[in-house]
Amino acid sequence: MKERYFLWTVGCQMNIADSEKLAAGFERLGMESVSAAEGADIVVINTCSVRQHAEDRAYSQLGRIRLLKEARPSLKVAVMGCMVGMRTRDLERRFPFVDVFAPPQQFKSIMELVEEPMEDFGGEFWPATFAVPEGPTAFVPVVHGCDKFCTYCIVPYRRGRERSRPVDEIVREVSYLTANDVREVTLLGQTVEAYGHDLQGTPDLGDLMRELSSIEHLSRIRFLTSYPKDMTSRILEAVAELPKVMECFSLPVQAGSDAVLQSMRRGYSKTEYIEKVREVRTLMPNAGITTDVIVGYPGETDDQFGETLQLLEDLRFDKVHTAAYSARPGTIADRKFPDDVPTDVKSERLHRVQAVEERISLELNEAYLGTVEIILVEGINKRGQPYGRTRTGKLVNVDTAARVGSLIDVSINHAGPFALRGAPVDSLAVVT
Ligand code: SF4
Repeated sequence: MKERYFLWTVGCQMNIADSEKLAAGFERLGMESVSAAEGADIVVINTCSVRQHAEDRAYSQLGRIRLLKEARPSLKVAVMGCMVGMRTRDLERRFPFVDVFAPPQQFKSIMELVEEPMEDFGGEFWPATFAVPEGPTAFVPVVHGCDKFCTYCIVPYRRGRERSRPVDEIVREVSYLTANDVREVTLLGQTVEAYGHDLQGTPDLGDLMRELSSIEHLSRIRFLTSYPKDMTSRILEAVAELPKVMECFSLPVQAGSDAVLQSMRRGYSKTEYIEKVREVRTLMPNAGITTDVIVGYPGETDDQFGETLQLLEDLRFDKVHTAAYSARPGTIADRKFPDDVPTDVKSERLHRVQAVEERISLELNEAYLGTVEIILVEGINKRGQPYGRTRTGKLVNVDTAARVGSLIDVSINHAGPFALRGAPVDSLAVVT
């Protein structure tokens, strides 16, 4: 009988894409996916160490798996992802029943757990092994790793230096996905505009998007996460010019104070960041822009936090992903700066950012009332409603039935801070 696997994932889109790739490898060996660890022969826990909360969730999964392994010693257990590396010794001590610890994208040792002999998967990142898509949207990593070394971030230590996948390999993957009913791809990179600098001929993200735009059945292209310094005018012009590329930006600022940005080693000033947002909005006045903010970074004063709040008021982002700083072992900030902002102050700052974000998001969403937006129906939510996104990345729940995978015109009749709601304009407006 073929072995069965259970894959549990926490963390960013890149982690999700890694899990999908590993699953594709398992399936290629004829293995079967199961929805609970209880029915599996192999369990893989794909971890994230960017936030404490993500680590805690992985610990709690491993606590459950320990009981399963005690009851069934033949169960094979692997832990992969960003918690492996600096934390491996600690993990080995706490979870001695784990058979394999594998850093991100180092799948080989996990595949050796499988009884079926491992074939040649064609090198790093298994270029010819594609995940079978589960819906009309798919993630496609285009550049792995990060060279930036922001002081608070563990990613460059875990995922290594920036390495881009060749254009033709990505075109092959996206062609495969569209042949399997995918209509929208999200091109992924920790700093996605870094794409191509290490490839022969140095194609940039705009060049890649141009190539992908010619794939007939592909309707939409998204990209994330952006890094302001890498986001060149040339790339922005390509986004503005190519009809399939969505005007949707994830552009983390992290702080509104130059002193904090400098301490974080983000590589840009507040003014440079503001200029970048202006450039986006000049080229694409309706662009959706989301950002990320860290509150309570070591040494952040009330005034410096006030600058962040003011920046959010001035730039009016569609969404702000906020996190309270937590020291990540192995990072520069953890080694050099005491985590000196008290927890209650961090929590108060978190709430203040969230209040500003909610108010502004609602105001921006209300501007959509009465407009007609094209959305790609991505799936059916828990209330049985179809949902999808506008070209600017707004989540829209649809009042009546619509086919998953179709592009439909929706008249927006309700706006909340987190989502819009609307009704299809008429059934003839459905674009397939
Ligand atoms: S740009 Fe900075 S925050 Fe983003 S992945 Fe790289 S090091 Fe981490």
